[in-house]
Amino acid sequence: MDVEKIRGEFPILGREVNGRPLVYLDNTATSQTPAEVVDEIVRLYENTKANVHRGVHSLSQEATDLQEHTRRRVQEFVNAAEPEEIIFTRGTTEAINLVAASYGSRFRDGDEIILTVMEHHANIVPWQLLRRHADIKIRVVEINERGELDMDQYRSLFNGRTVMAAFCHVSNVLGTVNPVKEMTAIAHSHGVPVLIDGAQASPHLRIDVRDLDCDFYVFSSHKMYGPTGVGVLYGRRSLLEEMPPYQGGGEMIKHVTFAHTTYADLPFKFEAGTPDFIDIAAFSKALDFIGRVGLDNIEAHERELLDYTTAKLEEIEGLKIYGTAPHKSAVISFNVGNIHNYDLGMLLDRLGVAVRTGHHCAQPLMQRLGVPGTVRASFAVYNTREEADAFIAALRRALALLS
Ligand code: PMP
Repeated sequence: MDVEKIRGEFPILGREVNGRPLVYLDNTATSQTPAEVVDEIVRLYENTKANVHRGVHSLSQEATDLQEHTRRRVQEFVNAAEPEEIIFTRGTTEAINLVAASYGSRFRDGDEIILTVMEHHANIVPWQLLRRHADIKIRVVEINERGELDMDQYRSLFNGRTVMAAFCHVSNVLGTVNPVKEMTAIAHSHGVPVLIDGAQASPHLRIDVRDLDCDFYVFSSHKMYGPTGVGVLYGRRSLLEEMPPYQGGGEMIKHVTFAHTTYADLPFKFEAGTPDFIDIAAFSKALDFIGRVGLDNIEAHERELLDYTTAKLEEIEGLKIYGTAPHKSAVISFNVGNIHNYDLGMLLDRLGVAVRTGHHCAQPLMQRLGVPGTVRASFAVYNTREEADAFIAALRRALALLS
C-alpha cells in the first residue's frame, strides 16, 4: 500500500492549520474525503440533478439508477441478502432512531433493553425516548480494566422481559472491538433481536451481516471517506416487513386517501421524502476507494500506527490510556496527570495537530472511567508514522508548556 499516493488523493491533507502542516487525527469523528468522491458530487450537481423515483424523464431515471447502484454496492459491502434490506438514512443516529421508534413501538411497560456502558449517546437516547409510551428498563453491560465487555454479566442480563440488545461493534472511545457475533448468538438463544452500531467498524473492518446473523446493523458514510448526510440501516427483511413506518410523506406510500394510506414496499417504506440522492450516489465512490485500497490493507496499516503510537505514548510520564484491549482499533484516548483534556487539545491545535477532546458523546462511559473527558487521537488509512512522530513531539511540547 502506497500511503503517499493515497495522501495525494485527499486535497485537504495538503493544507496548513495555524501555520503548520495539518496532522489530522480526528478520524473517529469524521474522516476526510478523496477527490474522486468530491468530483463525483460536483459532476452530479452539474449533470444529473433530478429528483429520484418521481419522474418519467431521463434525468430522473439516471438519478434513480445512481442511487440504486449505491444501494447494491452497500448490499455487497455488508453482504446483505437483498438490496431491499438496505435503507438510506441521514446517518447512524437516524438509523438507530428509526429502529427504536419503529421496532420499539411494540415494547411495553417493564420490557428491558440491554446496552453497554461504552455506547455512544446515539445508542442510548433513542431507546430512552421510548419511555414516552412505555416504562422501559435499560440494563447495562460493564467493562473490565482493559475496556472489554464483561461477557458473563452480559449473559446474566437476559430474562423473560428482554426485548432488544443494542451494542457497538467498535467503541469510539476505547477502540475495543466487541465480540459481536458471539453477543448476537447469545441474544438469539433468548429469542432477542440485536442492533449493532457499526459507526466505528465500517471504515476499518470487514462486515458480513449474514455471518454475524445480526438483525440490524447501522453506520455513517462520513466516517468512511464518504459524503456527509448519508447513513445506512441494514435490517433483516422479516423484521423490516412487520415494522411500521418511521416517518410519513412522499416516496413511502402506495396509495393515500384522507381515510387510509397503504405503504410502499421495502426499502421505500422507510425512506419518506426526498433522500440525499446526490450524496448517496457519490457514496458509491467512497466504497470504490475502500475496495481499491482493500480493508485488509487499511486494517494492517492502522494497526501498525496504533502499536507505534501507543508505545511512544507509554514513554510519557503520567500518561494514562483508556482502552487497552488486545483487539482494538486505531483509537487512543488518554489523559496526562491532572491536565485538562481541553488545554492539551488546544495546544496541540496550535501546533497543527487535530485531536478530539471532551466526553466523545459517551458520558456514561466517562462516569465509569471517573474522568470528565479525554484527549483522543484516531487514525485513518492516510496517516503516517511521520504524523505520529509529529503528534508525539507536539504533545511533549504542550506538556512542557503546561507543567
Ligand atoms: N455511534 C458511534 C459509535 C459513533 O462513533 C458515532 C459518531 N461519533 C455515532 C454513533 C453517531 O454517528 P452520526 O453522528 O454519524 O450519526
